[in-house]
Amino acid sequence: MRILVSNDDGVYSPGLLALARAAARFGDVHVVAPDVERSSASHSITASRPLSYRVTELPGGIKAHRVNGTPADCVALGVHLGDGVDVVLSGLNLGLNLGHGIWHSGTIAAAKQATMLGVRGIALSVPAGDDPVDFDALQPWVERVLGCLLRTVTTPQLVNVNFPRHPRGVVWTRAAIQHYDGRIVPAKDPLNRDVYWFSVAPVDAADRATDRWAVEQHWISMTPLEVDPTDEDVLHDIARAHPMDDERARAVSPPVSTPEAAAAVRVEEAGD
Ligand code: MN
Repeated sequence: MRILVSNDDGVYSPGLLALARAAARFGDVHVVAPDVERSSASHSITASRPLSYRVTELPGGIKAHRVNGTPADCVALGVHLGDGVDVVLSGLNLGLNLGHGIWHSGTIAAAKQATMLGVRGIALSVPAGDDPVDFDALQPWVERVLGCLLRTVTTPQLVNVNFPRHPRGVVWTRAAIQHYDGRIVPAKDPLNRDVYWFSVAPVDAADRATDRWAVEQHWISMTPLEVDPTDEDVLHDIARAHPMDDERARAVSPPVSTPEAAAAVRVEEAGD
């Protein structure tokens, strides 16, 4: 099995090294990761300049590519350079990615980029805080999760995994999106000017069987994610309650777009 390991904390993160070591038990590991930390980069890509990489070596002789790009860039480049990547592992991120954090996370974006390229993607995150994570103690748990996701189950294609500091087991969960923890916190800079921190506030009352609930209860959380954000229920109901020109569009436009139409719209999206 060919395994591409990436992250958003940067190629020299101890979390990436711990993940690469655990992954080596399951296949050939290649590391392609950002040259600097790109946490909260979400799914941004670098379209205004070319990407390049330098080869570097991590402890233990693990060869790595450090890329002047975002997590999504790194996975796209890694899949391009790799000789048939089977799975992309992103992490171990230093900081949990729970609930709405999935939208901001560069860690999950790297795994999502894999899925968009037709490759399985698994994002893995551990707690951040004053108390450093004991990666050696976590290693058997990382291997158990990888053993399940790489050897036992062939779906889901995109999984978000979060490890508590002292796990007591592994559970399947859904994303805790009932509450959003993003907050703007006003402050003053040294010259007494107004500045604003985009920060997070604690969220209470995480529902049972959500990712946040699981990690609070010291369970490792595995959440299957899907890339399609279409709200199927609303689409079905609203198209019937408020018909627009859908029927006429179906009548006069082909069911599948032509290559010419697709190319023309693509130019309008990207410019020349
Ligand atoms: Mn990060």
